[in-house]
Amino acid sequence: MSVQVSRRAALAAGLALLAGGSAGRATPPEARGLWEGGTRIVYGSRSLIVGHPGADPGLLRDLASRADAAGRTVAELFGRPPRPLVVVPDTTARAAALAGAGAVDGLAALADGDRVIVVPGAFSRLTPAGRGVVLAHELTHVAAGGGEVPVWLREGLADYVGYRDAGLPVPVAAAELAAEVRAGSPPRDLPGPAAFAPGGVRLAQAYQEAWLACRLLAGRFGEQALVRLYGDARERGVSAALSTLGLSVATLTAAWREYVRRELA
Ligand SMILES: [Zn+2]
Repeated sequence: MSVQVSRRAALAAGLALLAGGSAGRATPPEARGLWEGGTRIVYGSRSLIVGHPGADPGLLRDLASRADAAGRTVAELFGRPPRPLVVVPDTTARAAALAGAGAVDGLAALADGDRVIVVPGAFSRLTPAGRGVVLAHELTHVAAGGGEVPVWLREGLADYVGYRDAGLPVPVAAAELAAEVRAGSPPRDLPGPAAFAPGGVRLAQAYQEAWLACRLLAGRFGEQALVRLYGDARERGVSAALSTLGLSVATLTAAWREYVRRELA
């Protein structure tokens, strides 16, 4: 892409702020029926940001450029989503209502079908790097789809993509787990569903453990093998999927323990 073209794309992303979607473009179908009172639409070069009129316009523009970048990363691995869709309500309560979730406390964003819903207060408090990580994480859930896979694989894959281009050293991104390893308490088992319960005391470590399991797999077998493993695990179960890589849950766990110590000690 030429400098001129990329500048024009950046300008378009920055300037296409249309209140109510009325200034020149029809309201996209994704923006209809979310809430009363219209929408504030920002078009990124590939993403579509649909904000509540009460949402911070600066946040919407920031989201457009970050969703473009995160969407490019996710599409490199999954071939989708073609147009990341990010919905930005004005309050945490509306985010929960949109998601049909009981509570979204502690979440900065969540994947909901083919869209990402931003929890405005929590998202705004993230660092710039953190915003990119969260968007790529949630867009990975959108692209990879749900299904019966172990939580460590689902969340680990999302964090693998989330941190892939973030440029953070592993011991920084996994600071809580690194502290445990250095204190002589490395993890023994891949984190189970209970470890990911909201409000858990080792919730950060559970995500970091899952991330490192998937980072190990991607490093050893390649990113596409990790993506295939996820799809395969959805269809046939994780044990059958791992066996195509010559692994079992037990041998993966042993390799992961060693990897965690090496990366974080
Ligand atoms: Zn997740």
